[in-house]
Amino acid sequence: MYLQEKQLDLSEAVLNHIPYPTFLTDEDGHIVWWSQEAEKHFGYTSEEVKGSNLPFFNDYTHGHLIAKWDKIIAKEEPIRINSVTLYKKDKQLLKTSLILKSLTIHDITYVLFQFDTDQIKSSDQTASFELEILKKALSHSFMVLYLDKEGLIMHANDLFLKKSNWTPKRIVGKSFWQLFPNTSEHIAVADGIMNSIQKGSTYQGTVEKMTKDGLSYWVDLIAIPITDIENNTLYYILLEEEVTEKKLLQTRLEEIAYVDAETGLMSRHRLEQVVNEHIEEQKNFSFVFISINQFYTLKEILDVETESFLMIELTKRLKIYFEDSIIARAGRDDFAVITPLSDWYIEGFIHFLKQNPIYVENKVIPITVSGAITRFPEDQQTYLHLLKATNTTLQKVKLEGGGIISSLSQSDHHKLTRSLQIEKRLIEALNHNDFHVMYLPQREVTSGKVTSVEALVRWEDEVLGVINPDELIPIAEETGLINEIGMFMLEKSCEQAAIWQEKGLSVKVSYNSSIREFRDKNMVKAIRAALKKYNCSPELLQLEFTEKFALEAEAEKNIVKQMQTLHQEGITFALDDFGTGYASLRYLQLLPIGKLKIDKSFVNSIMQQEKLQQLIQGLIHFGQSLGVKVVAEGVESKEQYNALKDMGCDAVQGYYISEPITADQVEKLIRSTENV
Ligand code: C2E
Ligand code: CA
Ligand code: CA
Repeated sequence: MYLQEKQLDLSEAVLNHIPYPTFLTDEDGHIVWWSQEAEKHFGYTSEEVKGSNLPFFNDYTHGHLIAKWDKIIAKEEPIRINSVTLYKKDKQLLKTSLILKSLTIHDITYVLFQFDTDQIKSSDQTASFELEILKKALSHSFMVLYLDKEGLIMHANDLFLKKSNWTPKRIVGKSFWQLFPNTSEHIAVADGIMNSIQKGSTYQGTVEKMTKDGLSYWVDLIAIPITDIENNTLYYILLEEEVTEKKLLQTRLEEIAYVDAETGLMSRHRLEQVVNEHIEEQKNFSFVFISINQFYTLKEILDVETESFLMIELTKRLKIYFEDSIIARAGRDDFAVITPLSDWYIEGFIHFLKQNPIYVENKVIPITVSGAITRFPEDQQTYLHLLKATNTTLQKVKLEGGGIISSLSQSDHHKLTRSLQIEKRLIEALNHNDFHVMYLPQREVTSGKVTSVEALVRWEDEVLGVINPDELIPIAEETGLINEIGMFMLEKSCEQAAIWQEKGLSVKVSYNSSIREFRDKNMVKAIRAALKKYNCSPELLQLEFTEKFALEAEAEKNIVKQMQTLHQEGITFALDDFGTGYASLRYLQLLPIGKLKIDKSFVNSIMQQEKLQQLIQGLIHFGQSLGVKVVAEGVESKEQYNALKDMGCDAVQGYYISEPITADQVEKLIRSTENV
């Protein structure tokens, strides 16, 4: 609805006299008239905006106007909106305030929009306004310094003056370096800060500074170069916050953490740092553990004071014998020595201790030690690996009776390097998809049919040869790579089950999963995604896990929940290696277990031992009383099969049925049993 012709002249004449940007809309918000001032300020001509519905307000303001529109129309008093945002034709943002008034001329309602030009701020001005506020706020909570390009102080705020004890007059013109303690170390820090801001980067760090009277204090410092549009440095701003107390506390805590209070030796935290430094500097050294034998029996005959005394005396002897080496307290009864000395010298400590026994009240305390040596870089190359290898050797020495210090034996060495190698090749294999899957068929006893298979990972590496799951899986679990193997097996299982389903074979695929997968990722999501990707029904997927997994899972709400969700969605769970581990069976009530797999070690000797038969019979009854299917693993002979059949076992798997075979072979096997 437009203004009628004759009114237009009149209105234009009047309205164009308003010295503010102004426009009129009809009652639907369409612009019917647009003033010259509006044209000047917003850049749109009258022709461009007439008839349109407020195109230049931003979404927020637009929404606000729409929401209030009825009120605006109904109200006779003008309405003021203090903060509206709109775009000029050149897309520049304007913030201003607006007065709205509804007018009725000849029974037709219009709305007059009038902007306040004094309030109009382009975004640049808004920015500088905001900068002012920001500056004020910063100055309120930080010590602030302005430096010129050469690093001379131009201005310091009150907080800074108060802390540093300088007067406003004196500080101006002083150099930045004068704010630091006068040592080469501190000058280097100051140089570092200057270098970084002169290069145009922001510096951030905790540094020590000095007041005018030479008292030290610590600040968290941010130094920012301020540049103009052409990137020329104008000056630098330094914001500082005092952290002296925090720093002192930290130093104190570090001392506590780094020093063993009882013996004064460095702690194991510090040990790790020192060893890492040695490794970085490529020093050759031996990592030695020395551990008191039968410490816990010894403890029972000693009181606390004597025990402490013993530690201190042993420390003394270590210090005398390993003179210039690094000695640390590695545990309650363990000491670590980092030394370039040879194995035979280190081993000699046993003899030295015998010759220099520890006396308490004139009685010799009969302590002996065991020890282990690992060399860097020959044996192991990281702190963790050094620690692990040394521990392994130490445990072995202790098992064999203790009392000696031994270096990594050849066979251990071989084992450790092999697992390291496997770890490395494993990453390669995962990248190159070097894994494949074999399927172990499972036969239902009553129908004689193969209705499910267990998917087993297979890996033949071009360098290392065939690596058995029994060797592979523990390494993969330790390194976290089990997650990738698990994902691979999950995808393959879904893919294969879906392929069989397409072909009209209903085969459940069961794969082995590890608790780490449930901890490290959201298995519900992962499994849903895999099922969807291959269009596989959830009923065709089963996850196997061990009793150890069950025992840990039971205590972790998050895992129990994931399993229950999956269970509700149709996925089943089987408990693997049932009977091998743990006495507690509480998890059977907590976890959604649909199948028990009796471990092959039971089945192995089933024919030889009558007791074992009773046990297996018991396990089968137990499972069935819970409404859970029972499967026997590792069935290798007809006798075993028949015995299990007589006991009422639901299904069996093992070489008697089939070895692990390919998917094609599974298909053939199923088709041949269908005709049985
Ligand atoms: P498991 O789950 O108990 O798997 C059954 C193992 O027994 C398989 O060995 C299979 O080849 C073997 N086996 C089957 N029938 C017989 C038999 O009649 N007699 C004998 N002596 N052995 C038989 P495999 O493939 O070497 O796997 C060993 C273990 O490694 C598995 O024990 C399982 O715990 C683990 N594993 C295998 N694949 C995976 C996997 O993809 N992920 C995870 N997390 N673990 C896996
Ligand atoms: Ca299994
Ligand atoms: Ca098993």
